[in-house]
Formats: sequence, C-alpha cells, structure tokens
Amino acid sequence: MKEKATVVKHTGSHYLLSKLPEWNVFSAVIKGKLRLKGFNATNPIAVGDMVAYHMEDENTAVISEILPRKNCIVRRAANLSKQTHVIAANIDMAYLIVTIDFPETKPAFVDRFLVTCEAYNVPVKILLNKTDLYTENHAGMIDEFKGIYSNAGYRIDEISAIAGNGIERLKDEIKDKVVLFAGASGVGKSSLITAIDPSLTLKTGEISDAHNQGRHTTTFYEMHPISSGGFIIDMPGIRGFGLVDFKPEEISLFFPEMFRIAEECRFAPCTHTHEPGCAVKQAVEDGEIPYQRYMSYLGMLEENGKYR
Ligand code: GDP
Ligand code: ZN
Repeated sequence: MKEKATVVKHTGSHYLLSKLPEWNVFSAVIKGKLRLKGFNATNPIAVGDMVAYHMEDENTAVISEILPRKNCIVRRAANLSKQTHVIAANIDMAYLIVTIDFPETKPAFVDRFLVTCEAYNVPVKILLNKTDLYTENHAGMIDEFKGIYSNAGYRIDEISAIAGNGIERLKDEIKDKVVLFAGASGVGKSSLITAIDPSLTLKTGEISDAHNQGRHTTTFYEMHPISSGGFIIDMPGIRGFGLVDFKPEEISLFFPEMFRIAEECRFAPCTHTHEPGCAVKQAVEDGEIPYQRYMSYLGMLEENGKYR
C-alpha cells in the first residue's frame, strides 16, 4: 500500500522521512531512477519533497514517486554548470535575514535571493535584524532600505535576535509552516534560530560530491522541528548561489517593480538595457525604480550571460 511522507533529510545513501506535521522519522531508499520532470538537477529528491513510498518488507521503505512541487529553492550545481541543485522544496515561507550595518548585507545578495524566490514561487519575507544596534545615524539607511523593498512588494519585519524583539511574533507566524532561513554570514541567523528554539543546534554536513571527485562539496540540507511548532530548514552559506538558466528577457519578471512597468516598453521582449522607448530605463531615470535595484538587475543579466 502506498503512503505519503515528507523528506526531512538526505544522507547520501538514504532519505529520512516523516509524515508532517507529525515528527516520527524513518529511513527510506530509492531503487532505480526517480526524477521529477522538468528539473535538470543533481539531486532528484530534496528536503521538503513529498514522496510516495511502500514498505518492501517490515523495515524497508522504498520511495516510488516524487509528488509535484509547489515551489523550490535552487542553486547552480557547480561553476559554469547548467545543472541545478535543489536546496529545498515546498517551502511555506522563506525568511531572508539582513542587516543594514554590523555587517551591511550587500544589495546584490538580497536581490539575488529575492529573484530566486520569485522565479520559483517561494513566498519570501525580509527580517531586518540587530535593530538593538541601530542608532539615529542609521535611520536614513533603514528608511531607504525599507522604501526600496516595500515598494517592490516585500514585507520587512524589524527584529533583534539578541534583545528578543519580534521573536514571539515570528514563532507564532511559523508554528504551522515549513520555513527556510537564509542570510549572509554574520547577520545573526544562528542567533535567531537559537532565539526561536534554544534546543536547536543546526549543523549541516558537507561531503564530497561523488561526480566531482572532491573538487567541490555538496551540502545536505535538513529540516528541524521547532519546539513551539513548525519546521525550519537552515540554508547556510551562499557559495554558488545564483540564477540558473534564465533567458535574458526573463530576469526582469522577477523584479516586481520592473515587471509592473515593463508592459509599457516599446519592444517586447525588452531587456531594459539598450532598447529605445524602454519604460524601465525611464522609470530608473525618474527615480521610480531604485537605481540600486536596476544595477542588481544589470549584474544578474551579465552574470547569467556567462552560463548560457
Ligand atoms: P550568522 O553567521 O548569521 O549565523 O550570525 P551569528 O548568529 O553567529 O551572529 C553573528 C554575531 O552577531 C554574533 O556575535 C551575535 O552575537 C551577533 N548578533 C546576532 N544577532 C544580533 C542582534 O540581534 N543584536 C546584536 N546586538 N547582536 C547580534
Ligand atoms: Zn524595457
């Protein structure tokens, strides 16, 4: 008899499953080839995937099918590769943790993550951490940041992992969800996860990718239950994190404030770079689209070109 469960961990040779929201983990294997159509990924099954399985004998669960994903987060599998690595699937909310200062999160990093979420239909929210450290000297930067990203349509919550601001609200928000936490190093991601659940000690294992003979490592992502409810996937690092295989004219679709205005461009498709009558370029000149976001866009366009 077929049953369904969620993948909570992949350890190289086998998968750990649980029937969420229950946390009752058991091991399963795949036999033969199993692939989800439309994904050119190095890993066929990712954390968060729903799978169908059957018991081959009393102790052996065999995964027979990957159920369609509602969304996923991917990164490029290796440099100059067109293959993707699926970091996680079926995420209810991705939280991007940023800091305006101590250290400053680079706009290119923020935008890259947001674009990936847009491209793969992952709801995303920004958490502005370390608010306890900001003085009135930061007020201008904070207003600018909030202006740029709320104009683009993103929600921004101000929190402090150390002072505890916004933590109860966050716990309440994630208690019935599978969430992903991402952030550049030093923004306080570990502190935040500890503030949410002190019993969580998240360590992600890195092992060599067999196909690459140790030239690069593959991180195995893992889902953890939170004591106050919900499940968390920690996304450490951003090495190799980038856009995968988009057409140049597609990228601006993932900048909501550009997408809104692009229908007024004279040419379609328009890359918003050299085309006459480009409404996006005009909006940047008029200050309606932030210059910083447009620069991020150009950076992604250029980088994307290298992989095509
Ligand atoms: P990670 O690299 O994102 O996991 O960052 P950590 O959680 O290791 O935090 C980096 C540093 O920032 C540590 O010294 C933390 O104590 C500090 N930190 C994290 N969150 C806050 C915060 O909300 N306020 C203050 N003042 N410091 C914080
Ligand atoms: Zn245009």
